[in-house]
Amino acid sequence: MLHLYNTLSRQTEPFTPLRDNQVRMYACGPTVYARAHIGNFRTFICIDVLRRTLKYLGGYQMRQAVNYTDVDDKTIGGAERAGMPLREYTEQWIQAFREDNDALGIETPEETPRATDEANMTAMGDLVRQLEQNGHTYRSEGSVYFRIASFESYGRLARVVQDGIQAGARVDVDEYSKEDARDFVLWKAAKPGEPTWDPGVGPGRPGWHLECSAMALRLLGAPLDIHAGGIDLIFPHHENEIAQSEGATGGPFARFWVHVEHLFVEGEKMSKSVGNVYTLPELIEKGYRPSALRYLLLSSHYRKQLNFTWAGMEQAEESLRRLADFSARLGAVTVAGRHEGVQASIATARTRFAEAMQDDLNTAAALAAVFDLVRDVNSALDAREAGSEDAVAAQEALVACDQVLGVLALRQAEDATPPVPVDEIERLIGERQAARRQRDFAEADRIRVELQDRGILLEDGPSGTRWKRR
Ligand code: AMP
Ligand code: ZN
Repeated sequence: MLHLYNTLSRQTEPFTPLRDNQVRMYACGPTVYARAHIGNFRTFICIDVLRRTLKYLGGYQMRQAVNYTDVDDKTIGGAERAGMPLREYTEQWIQAFREDNDALGIETPEETPRATDEANMTAMGDLVRQLEQNGHTYRSEGSVYFRIASFESYGRLARVVQDGIQAGARVDVDEYSKEDARDFVLWKAAKPGEPTWDPGVGPGRPGWHLECSAMALRLLGAPLDIHAGGIDLIFPHHENEIAQSEGATGGPFARFWVHVEHLFVEGEKMSKSVGNVYTLPELIEKGYRPSALRYLLLSSHYRKQLNFTWAGMEQAEESLRRLADFSARLGAVTVAGRHEGVQASIATARTRFAEAMQDDLNTAAALAAVFDLVRDVNSALDAREAGSEDAVAAQEALVACDQVLGVLALRQAEDATPPVPVDEIERLIGERQAARRQRDFAEADRIRVELQDRGILLEDGPSGTRWKRR
């Protein structure tokens, strides 16, 4: 059984879904005003690994929602600077996010709502009105605020005492019309030049926290089995989501809260404000593959900080190459046979893998189990103590583990589509050979370096030049 660390209880607890065999999971999605950076993708990849663990190891059916925050100060500001309507402006970043998700092998959630979808705006209006009825709000200068003092258990998730709450980075400190510095805005009064909606609460736009509560309640219903996000969202975002949702429904909002630690670069959190961000296209430009980034980002435990380094990327590339070579080697075994020792190694690896993943997604230990299998089967093959039945069983185990991790199949798909079209590679190899025949070694070298920069390595051998992916 899966055991998950629950931020709410600060304990690792056994997980089963509340209803039937279905897991209802909500994860806070990207704010779509720029291309998501690889720090953001650490969170989304770890949540994808959680999803795959529930689905493929747990056997549960998934009902997952990941939203697009497509209305807030950043998106409105970006659209204004670009001179574009808000929805059109955010659409391009949504497309970019989807492209990166696909490249990184992130499964598409069942629901990907945009905050500005009409049904969601209506749900936000309904939520605000319900909170008003329940006495949790007040109005000031056209905005609606949540009165924290009206919600007794405020601070339970983040473990902050009400009185000690500081006006922090993501608390709306600039709103002087609030009665209390800790209160947060549910609905912001319309401002000239800003997009405006009115789902029955007065003209304006939603606060960020309201968007998530409304979408989660509308699409999945309370209590959610799991609510997930990056660790910076615990306070105030998730605390406020709880206050709004529970203040409106009177019941619990989410049973499990899962938070992913940050990706760092040289000791600093990767974030746009620090300016140390990389995006997936930038990594591809440098010759790395999305599968290697996925591998790197899931290879250490999701509750530990992870430091991004280029050496780490190289190691990830190398580890994946070993896995892909192993899989190819298994596919080439023709000698019939079955060996109990190999079969036992395979069974052990499968058990260890499952146990590691069920232990709060211990991906590092799960990968160690996979690499022990690689080592054992490789040495059996070297010693001619493994046959085709063993190879098939090992391949099946590899595929089963990879359903959860999602790295090897991604790598193999990348291998099947090289970064430079095969025709072009062959034409350039031909041109290089012609240059060499004319003793124009500078030109021959230029072609080799050009291909190398584009991710293709050339190897000259007795039977001519062969190419492979970097
Ligand atoms: P945002 O687009 O800023 O709303 O963030 C999208 C998701 O990425 C949220 O769950 C954040 O908590 C998460 N996130 C932001 N920065 C990092 C980072 N450096 N490492 C891991 N996750 C992050
Ligand atoms: Zn959220």
